[in-house]
Amino acid sequence: RIRATAAPLVGEDEILGILILVEDITKLKKLEHMRSDFVSNVTHELKTPLTSIRGFVDTLKNGAIDDPKVSRKFLDIIDIETERLYSLIQDILLLSEIESKQDFEIQPCNITKVVKEVVDLLEPKFKENLKLNYVPEPYIRPYYCNASRIKELLINLLDNAIKYTEEGSVTLICKEDGDDLLIQVSDTGIGIEQKYLSRIFERFYRVDKGRSRKQGGTGLGLSIVKHIVELYNGRIKVESKVSEGTMFEIRLPYNN
Ligand code: ADP
Repeated sequence: RIRATAAPLVGEDEILGILILVEDITKLKKLEHMRSDFVSNVTHELKTPLTSIRGFVDTLKNGAIDDPKVSRKFLDIIDIETERLYSLIQDILLLSEIESKQDFEIQPCNITKVVKEVVDLLEPKFKENLKLNYVPEPYIRPYYCNASRIKELLINLLDNAIKYTEEGSVTLICKEDGDDLLIQVSDTGIGIEQKYLSRIFERFYRVDKGRSRKQGGTGLGLSIVKHIVELYNGRIKVESKVSEGTMFEIRLPYNN
């Protein structure tokens, strides 16, 4: 798409010429399109839990509250949907914060410490039949970043690995590799069909919407991860085999 704008170039007392600006606005249009798609997706995603909450509140008010068993069940649903709404809003805010690329809190970070904090946080989600393999590196050269971004990245990847793995293990590797900080998260879970691999980083894209919803997913996790990787000029790679597992590999250059 082309947009042309013309304006006269006026001198002291004569017209010197005409200035014609021809712009290729294909990219701009595409961006506008993406933005309006995002807004309508957000609206839809926020409306779904809200509609459900409203429905159950109405039913309770219309008499269901008198049956303790039923009202307990409805309150549990309202609780879950409220939690979903909260996670969605958190993720949407986080995504827009990262997208604005205003990262003022860049500091030399002790990555081993950051990883330890994340592992401690997620430890309770591992069980007898789902183990975490992680051997901390004795030393990782300090990495200039906003530690909370790296934390968010790790939490999202590990959380997914846990959510989409019924049993087996999740393996985390975080180490220096040449000029990069290398992060690998692999699991022995359900895997992702090849044809969906290129889409999983899109906002709100889920391979199995029902499953993601049940697990409390917002569909924004990998989009957040991708944006954080881009923030540090890094690369992300995913390999997966259905019923065997998935591996995400991230390389963040030290010289970003
Ligand atoms: P969600 O909140 O749905 O997990 P994400 O953006 O984090 O959203 O991931 C997008 C989709 O990619 C998920 O819905 C799921 O289908 C797929 N996915 C992500 N990580 C994994 C994984 N480790 N194993 C299998 N599928 C995964």
